[in-house]
Amino acid sequence: MTNKDLANLIFPNITKTIEDYETMYPERELPEGAKVVRFAPSPTGFMHIGNMMSATINYVLAKKSGGVFFVRNEDTDQARTVEGAVDFIHKTLKHYGIYPDEYEYNGEVVGNYGPYIQSERIEIYHAYVKHLIEIGRAYPCFMSKEEVDEIRENQLAAKKRIGIYGRFARFRNLPIDEAMERIKNGEKYVIRFKSMGDFDKKFIFEEQNKGKMEFPENDLDFPIMKSEDLLPTYHFAHLVDDHLMRTTHVVRGEEWISSVPIHHELFKTFGYKMPKYIHNSLILKKDGDTIRKISKRKDPEALMFYYTEKGYPAAAVIESVMTIANSNYEEWRTSHPDAPFYEFDFSPKKMSASGALFDLDKLDNISKNIISKMNKEELYGELLEWTRNYDEEFFELLSADEGYAKRILNIEREQKKPRKDYACYSEVKGKIWYMFDSLWDKEMKGYEFQTISDLDEIKKLVSTYFDKYYDEADDKDTWFGKVKELAKEFGYAPEVKEYKENPEAYKGHVGDVSTVLRIVLTREVMTPDLYELMSILGKDRMLKRCEQI
Ligand code: GLU
Repeated sequence: MTNKDLANLIFPNITKTIEDYETMYPERELPEGAKVVRFAPSPTGFMHIGNMMSATINYVLAKKSGGVFFVRNEDTDQARTVEGAVDFIHKTLKHYGIYPDEYEYNGEVVGNYGPYIQSERIEIYHAYVKHLIEIGRAYPCFMSKEEVDEIRENQLAAKKRIGIYGRFARFRNLPIDEAMERIKNGEKYVIRFKSMGDFDKKFIFEEQNKGKMEFPENDLDFPIMKSEDLLPTYHFAHLVDDHLMRTTHVVRGEEWISSVPIHHELFKTFGYKMPKYIHNSLILKKDGDTIRKISKRKDPEALMFYYTEKGYPAAAVIESVMTIANSNYEEWRTSHPDAPFYEFDFSPKKMSASGALFDLDKLDNISKNIISKMNKEELYGELLEWTRNYDEEFFELLSADEGYAKRILNIEREQKKPRKDYACYSEVKGKIWYMFDSLWDKEMKGYEFQTISDLDEIKKLVSTYFDKYYDEADDKDTWFGKVKELAKEFGYAPEVKEYKENPEAYKGHVGDVSTVLRIVLTREVMTPDLYELMSILGKDRMLKRCEQI
């Protein structure tokens, strides 16, 4: 009996060879320097900020080089697959304007290098496993899970290196006949790679961010095909897929760096060129006085839901991610304020090796800037979209009178130095609620008027103001002049400066008077420009509000 017999026993129906696949998925015809990259998440959880960083970097690398960006669904861990995760990945990418050139979603396959879902590639993997068995570089291993666990426990206790290598690889040299016999008897097995590496030997590996690194050779007989579902392990699928899909650059999480020796030996065994590897920086966050790794369990901002629920503009999230991805991104942005992010020349060397600090305050600043630059139509559109999903009441209000809503949103907007008051869409309602009668708080109780607190005085002030001074046709200067006159009439200094020079002579100053107007009309101490607010509210509405003192 030969290895070929063993391979045929295990894979009787696999007729295509690895050469066949080589012809089916030829080298891509792309211009010199074009990068072929992929975003390859596992649907074992919902897309997180680390995934987002990988996807964004990949997209930029492909766009900038005129290459290809594809999405591959790595669903080989079927037991841990989370419902809705794949859907969320595709929707999230679209939301952020990251458009894959090749993908498979909802039954649609785009691209010539698919299938792009690993569970649909099982036949391809089997051809490669079969090949390894035929050449004596893979074998069935009949150790039970319990036995493997026990080896691991003992290794841990004895402070030995973990894994199936050397004498722990019990089935490595099992005679072929015996292996075939066991298989025929229905014994369970996994297929392990037969390593030829020597752990005491080192090799040099050029990682794109960290530079030259020294690794020991792999000597682990790691599993390449699982027994329960005959699906490949990550390592093996990585080899097969990234070879056949002609990936040139692999951008992946920092946690994979320790697997480099395994991948190195796999690619060498097949004689394939390894892609270049960029291992992402860990994403860190400030937690009190310490800085730690962001956690999917502890930190809501680790998951991408957070940003859609809060209503951050997509561009703000992308900017924040790019800012931590490359140290010179902000500088580039300053000199290219209007360029799309993917025109940035991403350099793996400029990734922080010690981790990327993701700061929500910074995101807020970036976002405030971006929202402040939107015109009223854009902001209205974005807000409508967000409220449609997250705030039905506000959605109704915004849609009921589009013109009114847009006037409110346009306060201190569409000008050279726009107001930067919204970091996300969920903040908007809390800042303009008083403009809507159905949200209006009729109760005056509990509001702090600061200097002027006597309700009779307040009533007199506002009625005099609306009877004698207020005119909807006034421009801003005239309007303010009249507020000053009102102040004077009631014994308040028309200028703050005057008051400060001679506080004894006045009851307060014009600021105290406008605070009264502000609170009576808006119930807020801090608002955008009062003149604009008043002209949008309109006299009738304001008079009604004055009755509620
Ligand atoms: N499915 C792997 C993960 O989500 C992909 C790693 C890679 O990009 O190679 O971690």
